[in-house]
Amino acid sequence: MVSMKLKEDLKSSLTGTILEDIKIVIDKAEIHRHLGYGRKQHPRSRISSLIDSQIHKACEFIKPAAYYTIKPITSLDNSKISVGELVFTSHKLAQVFSGCSQAAIFAVTIGEGLEKEVAQLTKSRAVLEASVLDAVGSVAVEKAADWLESVIKGIAATNDDKVGWRYSPGYCDWDITQQKELFRGLDSKSVGVNLTDTCLMVPRKSISGIIGMGKSCNTFSACRLCSRKNCPHRREEFTQ
Ligand code: SF4
Repeated sequence: MVSMKLKEDLKSSLTGTILEDIKIVIDKAEIHRHLGYGRKQHPRSRISSLIDSQIHKACEFIKPAAYYTIKPITSLDNSKISVGELVFTSHKLAQVFSGCSQAAIFAVTIGEGLEKEVAQLTKSRAVLEASVLDAVGSVAVEKAADWLESVIKGIAATNDDKVGWRYSPGYCDWDITQQKELFRGLDSKSVGVNLTDTCLMVPRKSISGIIGMGKSCNTFSACRLCSRKNCPHRREEFTQ
C-alpha cells in the first residue's frame, strides 16, 4: 500500500463543502483487479515493478478534490425521490431511500493531470505503462469517493443517523442522463468537474452520486431486493 499526502483542508462554498488534499491509500490488489487479474492470480515481477513505479508516478499527478452538499428528502414515491429542488427517477433508488430523511449529493475527482499523462504515454506508444497508470487512476478516484463516504458517515453519526449505500447515475435503473439533474444541485466547477452534453464527466476520473442519511435509512443495497440473480453488477445477495 502507498499512502499519499494527508492534509485535510475544508472550505465552504455557497451551497456545500469543498474538501481538498484528500487521503488516498492505493491498494495494489485493486490495481491487479482493474488490470484483469483474478483474486488468486499475481502479475510477474516485471509487471509488479511497473505497477509500483506507476503508483509512485501517479502521486505527482493526482490532485484529489471533493464537493458535497446535504439536502432534505422532501418527497418519495414508487419511482421518484425529491431531494431539495432536485428530482431523481429510479424505482430501485426509491425503494432503498424509503427510510432516509436527507441525502448528500457529491462529486469527487483526482483532477486531469493523470489522464493527460496517460494520453501522452499512449501517444508515445508506451501502451503498457499507460494502461497501468490508468488503472492506478481508477483505483485512486474510487478511494477518494470511499474517503468522502467516510466523511458523510461521520457527519451522520453526530446526529445518530445511519447512511445508505453510494449510488451514481448509470447504476441499475438510474439513467445516466440523470447526471444533469444531479449536477444542477452541485457546485462541481469548484472542484473542477464538468459535465458534457452526453453526460460524461471531465476529468474522466471523477465520481458523482448520492448517499442517503437518516435514522431509519436502509443500509442494504438495492440488489438485495432485486431478483435478477445473475446480474453482473450485483453488489449484494438477493435475500427476499
Ligand atoms: S442486481 Fe443488478 S439489476 Fe438488480 S438492483 Fe442490483 S445492479 Fe440492479
